[in-house]
Amino acid sequence: MANKTLSLSKALHAYLVEHSVREPDILQRLRAETAKDSMSMMQIGPEQGQFMQLLVRLMGAKNCLEVGVFTGYSSLAVALVLPANGRIVACDVSEKWTAIARKYWAEAGVAGKIDLRIAPALATLDELIESGRAGSFDFAFIDADKINYLAYYERALTLVRSGGLIVVDNTLWGGQVIDKKSKSSDTQAIRQFNDQLRTDPRIHLSLLPVGDGLTLALKL
Ligand code: CA
Repeated sequence: MANKTLSLSKALHAYLVEHSVREPDILQRLRAETAKDSMSMMQIGPEQGQFMQLLVRLMGAKNCLEVGVFTGYSSLAVALVLPANGRIVACDVSEKWTAIARKYWAEAGVAGKIDLRIAPALATLDELIESGRAGSFDFAFIDADKINYLAYYERALTLVRSGGLIVVDNTLWGGQVIDKKSKSSDTQAIRQFNDQLRTDPRIHLSLLPVGDGLTLALKL
């Protein structure tokens, strides 16, 4: 027994999934369809989707923001637990991947809860701020190009209310954050992001070893 986090073997991770994940059929089918795409590793894991659902329920979140939709797994997971008047503004640049997302949102009956904006996310976030939406979101999920993580985070911090939560994916980046040989622009962007949040006085912070590293930033 140690007071540090257990590292999960494949078998222990499988046990965790078997003993906690209750993935609805529609999310299972979206996962299966996405698995055919060569970029399927961009999809979050089922235990992560379920954890986000729990956070959204815990907060009683209504207004959500998503930066990086891909094939829509996380937005569908969140939309499924939002109240009828809950909304997600979802940002992505890909018509191809979000076409898959739209199909599943429609089938699940949550398409009306998701406002998909096909445009560079920074432009959409700036528009939201200019249109007076600052401080109006409860929950934001950032899982897009790593180079812009800090820029997305800054805007998300403006857009969420006090007590709102920003969740950021891939912040342990397959362990490359501590690999001195890894000097890619993505790795450097994530290191810079993690360094900056460490001392950001505007948030309460937690970095969880869930999936590929999940950072939670609760706005003061
Ligand atoms: Ca991700």
